Amino acid sequence: MTELGIYLHVPFCTMRCDYCAFVTYTGLDELHQRYVDAACAQLRADQARVGRAATSLYLGGGTPSKLTPTQVAQLVEAATLVEGAEVSMECNPEDVTVERLEGYVSAGVTRCSFGIQSTAPHVLKSLGRRHGTGALSDVAHAAAQVGLTSWSIDLIYGAVGERPEDFDRCLDEVLSLELPPPHLSAYALTVEPGTPLAKKVALHPDDDVQADRYEVLTRRLTDADYEFEEISNWSKPGHHCRHHRTYWSGGDYLGIGAGAHGHLDGHRFWNLADPQGYITAIERGSSPIEGEEHLDPATRRFELASLMLRTSMGIPPSWLDADPVLDGLLEHHGERVLLSPRGRMLANVVAQHLVV
Ligand code: SF4
Repeated sequence: MTELGIYLHVPFCTMRCDYCAFVTYTGLDELHQRYVDAACAQLRADQARVGRAATSLYLGGGTPSKLTPTQVAQLVEAATLVEGAEVSMECNPEDVTVERLEGYVSAGVTRCSFGIQSTAPHVLKSLGRRHGTGALSDVAHAAAQVGLTSWSIDLIYGAVGERPEDFDRCLDEVLSLELPPPHLSAYALTVEPGTPLAKKVALHPDDDVQADRYEVLTRRLTDADYEFEEISNWSKPGHHCRHHRTYWSGGDYLGIGAGAHGHLDGHRFWNLADPQGYITAIERGSSPIEGEEHLDPATRRFELASLMLRTSMGIPPSWLDADPVLDGLLEHHGERVLLSPRGRMLANVVAQHLVV
């Protein structure tokens, strides 16, 4: 089956986190229903144009869990999906109750990703997150209650003020849950230009500290039988994210909603980022596409190699030159070469040696 993903962006948040550079807006709650209607209209039109059922639908944000289960059901119903398609949804922990999660699962959601970030109160505070430290056990409990077997948590490491023992304890709490998350994403805190964090130089993370955290993370997750999936993603067998694999293997995906990006066979396109502008375009019957580009074959090959290099798929050894600087950064697995644990921290250096 040829994979086709649908990425649907929900650009609403209750408040803006200092480090966030995503397309998202606060204070637009009154737009939610018109936005859902507009996204459904774009989704139906775009899918009719490509004429293919989707293998995954991913509701990302922003905060998709600001939408009601009824609105999520409306979005899922607008998509034409293959039998057994993955329907993923990002949720903020503070929105999660058993009833609400049950509503999302009834709407067709098969996989949730919860933005836990940390279990240390002072780290959450420095990240500007609102949820409490009980969020991890609450979402794990809710997922078990509603029978959600595939779910994930996001962690952020390396914030100023996070001590080694805070990160260790956070991993202890995750891994000692009665039912630990079958999938885990962990990202080094990055300073994105234009964010409030960019202006707070004293809160900028330290590269060496982040490298130390990554080493701990890799060791702890490997010891707990998580499989390496991508530089920032690990999963238990059978719980990888199908939608992300479509991205990482250069596959096709539609981009639905304000600021969403899509890709079809080397053609990349993206929508208007302003939700009001996006809704107005759809309501007037005009295209919400703001820009597009066609990737030439060389660029496409390089981008695909750079993406695959970061994953457990790896790349053929012939796609890299034989520079001694790569010693220790690679592991050979049969016909493929993968980043070693140390190489994962220096993926950009390795990518400079691609010869595709
Ligand atoms: S909740 Fe997520 S999308 Fe919203 S502002 Fe915070 S980091 Fe950004």
